[in-house]
Amino acid sequence: MIMWSPFVQIYRKKYPWIQLAGHHGSFRQGVEAGTILKKLAMPERIALEKLNEDPFLEGFVPKFSGVQTINGEEYIQMQDLLRDFDNPSLMDIKIGLRTFHEEEIVHARYKTKWRKDLYEKMCAVDPKAPTDEENELTAISKYRYMAFRESQTSTVDLGFRIEGIKNTEGVSKDFKTMKDKDKIIDCIFEFSRFDQTLLATYISRLKELLIRLQQSPFIEKNQLIGSSLLFVHSNGAITNKANLWMIDFGKTIPVPPRIKINHKSEWKPGNYEDVKQSSFTRIQQQEESKLKK
Ligand code: ATP
Ligand code: MG
Ligand code: MG
Repeated sequence: MIMWSPFVQIYRKKYPWIQLAGHHGSFRQGVEAGTILKKLAMPERIALEKLNEDPFLEGFVPKFSGVQTINGEEYIQMQDLLRDFDNPSLMDIKIGLRTFHEEEIVHARYKTKWRKDLYEKMCAVDPKAPTDEENELTAISKYRYMAFRESQTSTVDLGFRIEGIKNTEGVSKDFKTMKDKDKIIDCIFEFSRFDQTLLATYISRLKELLIRLQQSPFIEKNQLIGSSLLFVHSNGAITNKANLWMIDFGKTIPVPPRIKINHKSEWKPGNYEDVKQSSFTRIQQQEESKLKK
């Protein structure tokens, strides 16, 4: 299952920087020490700037330090979350029960841009997935591809999916068809080396994040689509050092005026919610029943 990834770059301080998801070539070393550059997308710049101003989320999102232009290309400069880790393991978990904006569904219906590359990607995962019409066109829309990817993973059922893991053996992105909850739990345990201290650190950080998200004014007014949680722990001298952050705000945009979302209600097109009620209430019920015992 473990594959070596080409996405390993050596940065100035001579530590390997690992990119688990996204396009090759969209990241580079930052101009300031301890930072990285990500190709500029306006929604991400705006979201990151606002998230940095939100006191509740301080320390849970990378610090934004401006825009840099390199060879005529603009980049967002942000904190390198790997900088304080010795030989880190990392896991990217894409959160939310959908990875597309509501507008993308409408767009796919009326202004479809047919993509041959995405048709090929779909065939690579499951050659039987395209419909007869799609096989004739040999192209699909981006929305169709994303909905297909979701149906193959745990996104729809659990509201998250593993995008990639790097542990001491190497990098694996082999999660494109991982849907089964028990298999996902096994992967998370394996990633955490079955280490109780590490797991406890991650869980307490997740609980703290949940509390902060419920208080954050930014989160109340923005849909988080395609964002991830980046889990990082050290395998060097201080082996229990672990942390996690929210990353990837390329599709984090405000909901229309007058609409309020709670990130808990079931998503129905038009209400802009991004977390499925069933998975949220299940977790809450489990927590409550534990407290009652
Ligand atoms: P996609 O939209 O396909 O998920 P993307 O191009 O928007 O990808 P990100 O998801 O932001 O890219 O990041 C890709 C990977 O780069 C992450 O999985 C992580 O490994 C690494 N990465 C991103 N931001 C940081 C950061 N601030 N510090 C350290 N590593 C990061
Ligand atoms: Mg991402
Ligand atoms: Mg992204």
